Amino acid sequence: MPLVAANWKMNPSNLDDALDLVRGVMSVARGQAQNVEVAIFPPFPWLLSVSDLIIESGVKLGAQNVFWEMKGAYTGEVSPPMLKAICQWVIVGHSERRLYLAETDEMIAKKTAAALSAELGVIMCVGELADHYDAGMSEQIVSGQVRAGLASVAADDSARLVIAYEPVWAIGSGRNADPEFAYKTMRLIRRIVGEMIGAGAARKVRILYGGSVKASNVQQYVELPLCDGVLVGGASLDAEEFVKIVKTTSEVYGHR
Ligand code: PEP
Repeated sequence: MPLVAANWKMNPSNLDDALDLVRGVMSVARGQAQNVEVAIFPPFPWLLSVSDLIIESGVKLGAQNVFWEMKGAYTGEVSPPMLKAICQWVIVGHSERRLYLAETDEMIAKKTAAALSAELGVIMCVGELADHYDAGMSEQIVSGQVRAGLASVAADDSARLVIAYEPVWAIGSGRNADPEFAYKTMRLIRRIVGEMIGAGAARKVRILYGGSVKASNVQQYVELPLCDGVLVGGASLDAEEFVKIVKTTSEVYGHR
């Protein structure tokens, strides 16, 4: 089943607005639950309130980050078991964390392995910077990130693993990637995952596209044969827009 994931980042700025946004998404997501999995990723302080609200709605909940240790003296961090108590999903290695928090491939690999071991679903993000894209280095960068990030992942984890291909130059820029280009990179990702955990297990790993997805362009991505859904940032903050993205995805997969 395709996954449509809403990364709210550090938005909206108060809990009431966050709950309004959830209400706007919930009613529609329930109706599409046969064809599409919807997951929302609010900021940490609101996870509990959102969790209470979405109970029995079919909408899944996720966090935007996690630490790799299970407990201990790690000020400010949140462990996989703590998240597992209220979430089904976590995003790991988002480019904004790579850029602003200096997260390395090694840290991302540890987070991915730790979250999977706590039985969370993981969306691991990969993607090249604009300079790399301009220099024709996209494949080299993305394959390096996938190989490093999956270093400790086992074939058994494949059903809970999602890789989001998010070219950094497409995130929040309004410059979404050409679908043919996105397809080639996703095909590369699928091949590398197969090399690492075996082709059978790799088929269970879902691959998403992310980067300036909106209602008017989502169809061209979800129609791609290898695309298992989308990771949506800015457009997920507008309930109407996000709901259109969910509906389009549901329609496309309903016809497959
Ligand atoms: C993201 O942050 O993961 C993202 C894809 O953002 P946007 O949709 O705003 O480009």
